[in-house]
Amino acid sequence: MLQTSSSIVSSASRLLRTPGATIDILGAGIAGTWQALMLAKQGRRVAIYERDTAAMANSTSHVAGGMLAPRCEAESAEPVITRLGVRSLALWREECPETSFNGSLVVAHPRDRADFERFARLTDRHRRLGGDAIEALEPALAGRFREALFFPDEGHVEPRRVLPHLHARLASMGVTIHFERERSETTHTIVVDCRGLAARETLSGLRGVKGEMIVVETDEIVLSRPVRLLHPRWPLYIIPRAHNRFMIGATTIESEDRGVSIRSALELLSAAYAVHPAFGEARIIELGAGLRPAFADNRPRIFIEDRTIAVNGLYRHGFLLAPALAELTASFLANGATDQEVMQCA
Ligand SMILES: Cc1cc2nc3c(=O)[nH]c(=O)nc-3n(C[C@H](O)[C@H](O)[C@H](O)COP(=O)(O)OP(=O)(O)OC[C@H]3O[C@@H](n4cnc5c(N)ncnc54)[C@H](O)[C@@H]3O)c2cc1C
Repeated sequence: MLQTSSSIVSSASRLLRTPGATIDILGAGIAGTWQALMLAKQGRRVAIYERDTAAMANSTSHVAGGMLAPRCEAESAEPVITRLGVRSLALWREECPETSFNGSLVVAHPRDRADFERFARLTDRHRRLGGDAIEALEPALAGRFREALFFPDEGHVEPRRVLPHLHARLASMGVTIHFERERSETTHTIVVDCRGLAARETLSGLRGVKGEMIVVETDEIVLSRPVRLLHPRWPLYIIPRAHNRFMIGATTIESEDRGVSIRSALELLSAAYAVHPAFGEARIIELGAGLRPAFADNRPRIFIEDRTIAVNGLYRHGFLLAPALAELTASFLANGATDQEVMQCA
């Protein structure tokens, strides 16, 4: 899949040999953060410019589930997502060994049996579990479901913990992160544009796809891994967080409105209640929504033009794909390797 594009690499690598040349990354969301990490590891001089505060409350990454689930996503996503996602799992393991790799569990109510079988057909690397095995894995779900699919090699991160963790790691590697600052033009610089939806002014076709989520808190249930409940309209999931919190997500709506609708709130909360009635007593901590940056085919892209590399369109898979996309940029800058499925060179 990797090929070499000599004219572009020579212009980028010429620039990188210029004394004082740096790489400026725009955006400290999950895409920009991983780009910085992989490039800093190559020994490059990297700086990040992020217009938000360090809390990153306005980035899409802030509201994400953080599931690293290339196998489950194969049910609805293109094969390129699984290919890059599987590579990313290895990079998460290498760079963030504390990442939770407890797998994912997929369940369905008896009336959605056909959806369950369809999901099993369209995905691989799963094991079918009966009631006892479900209970052994997740005691809180004892007696709730007769069958489940278990995807043992999948993982999840908590975005609001892992981003600050990665930002601190970058700082310790000498990367400067300028929060609340947009970059002013400089010469001798390669720009890696990871502005998410804000890059639509330069990337035509980029759109926002709304995802709504709810955070609840209860000490009545303990889960060790994301649980997906198959649903006729959209996949709903419950992800365990620290301090007895759970994120319930997520809708996928073709809208750029940032509010949470009553319909979505009802559906998300009902889904949680259907997984376990103890969620009925949980406290609602937060209702939130984010706009996933996506191109028409919902596949990620790396555009390379002169001194700018734009990494975007991560859609529902930013946490899953960011490491592999960063690795692609790093190998492009190192030796001109281009991935034909993802990269477009002007
Ligand atoms: C509800 C929900 C659940 C999700 N769950 C998952 C999941 O479980 N797993 C998964 O892999 N993905 C998930 N996603 C998708 C994931 O959140 C996105 O794919 C990802 O956050 C996109 O990351 P990004 O870095 O491209 O964009 P962003 O996170 O939006 O980051 C872009 C950053 O650029 C900054 N910026 C913008 N303009 C400028 C400028 N001019 N100068 C400097 N900085 C600028 C912004 O402030 C922002 O911080 C979910 C998304 C939603 C909405």
